[in-house]
Amino acid sequence: MILSEKERGDMTAAVLEPKDMAWLEKGVLGIEWNDGHKARYPVRYLRQQCPCAACVDEWSGARRLQPDDVPLLIMLQDVQPVGRYALQFTWSDGHDTGIYSYALLRKLCQCDICQPVKPVEPKSRRLM
Ligand SMILES: [Zn+2]
Ligand SMILES: [Zn+2]
Repeated sequence: MILSEKERGDMTAAVLEPKDMAWLEKGVLGIEWNDGHKARYPVRYLRQQCPCAACVDEWSGARRLQPDDVPLLIMLQDVQPVGRYALQFTWSDGHDTGIYSYALLRKLCQCDICQPVKPVEPKSRRLM
């Protein structure tokens, strides 16, 4: 049986678990996985990617939540493990229905290895 790149990725993700969690900087959550990967999660980005039924249409899979709907200074207030497969986050905007599976979280990692191409920031600092 030949597995596609994606299937292999999913199988690896199935056994992943967070080992440690810490704030890397203000608004950036770090999760160290049991395979040694040190992942980075800007919390506003995490909130924008919420997989719950209020944020994503269950039937079409279309995202209902627009990135700009999330407050700029959104804060992560609580993290609860769900079984052995997911984390549930409570946000400062009162939202707490998103259950992020470990596989999803791993895909959302914003470290330099997982996301080598960052959104381009304007290079010029000129104001005028
Ligand atoms: Zn949600
Ligand atoms: Zn990463």
